Amino acid sequence: MMDCPFCQIARHQAPAQIVYEDDRTVAFLDINPVSRGHTLVIPKGHYPDLFELSPGDWQAVALTAQRVAKAIKAGLGAEGLNLLQSNGPVAGQVVFHFHLHLIPRYRGDGLRLGHRSPYREQDFPETARRIREAL
Ligand code: 5GP
Ligand code: ZN
Repeated sequence: MMDCPFCQIARHQAPAQIVYEDDRTVAFLDINPVSRGHTLVIPKGHYPDLFELSPGDWQAVALTAQRVAKAIKAGLGAEGLNLLQSNGPVAGQVVFHFHLHLIPRYRGDGLRLGHRSPYREQDFPETARRIREAL
C-alpha cells in the first residue's frame, strides 16, 4: 500500500534502523521504544492484522522474531524479552500493517508496558548496530 508507513520501510522508501531483512520479513527499531532495542518484525507483504496475515508470512515473521530476539539478548545484554502484538484499535493497534513487538527486558527496568521515551540521537543507530552484529 502506497501510504502505509511500514510498506515504505519494507521498500526502503522511508528511513528506518533495519537490523535484519530477508525475502519475506524486515526487523527494525521502534522509533519510540518501550525499552532500548524495542524492535518490530513485519512481513514485507501488506496485511492489516493477524486476522488477514497469511499462514506462510506468519511463519516467516515468527522465525525472524526468534532469530532477532537472540541477537537482542546477545547484542544488548537483555536478560528477558516480551512479545507483544496488537490487532484492532480496541487492542491499541495504531499502525495497520501487521507487526510483532520484541521488547527487551533488563533487570530492574521497572517497565510498565505502554510508557515510552525516545532515544538519545546517536543511541538510535548504535542500538541497531549492536543487534545486527550479534546476528
Ligand atoms: P501498535 O500499532 O502495535 O500500537 O504500534 C505501532 C508502533 O509502531 C509504535 O510502537 C510506534 O512507536 C511504531 N512506529 C510508528 N511509526 C513508525 C515509524 O515510522 N518508524 C518506526 N521505526 N516505528 C514506528
Ligand atoms: Zn503496509
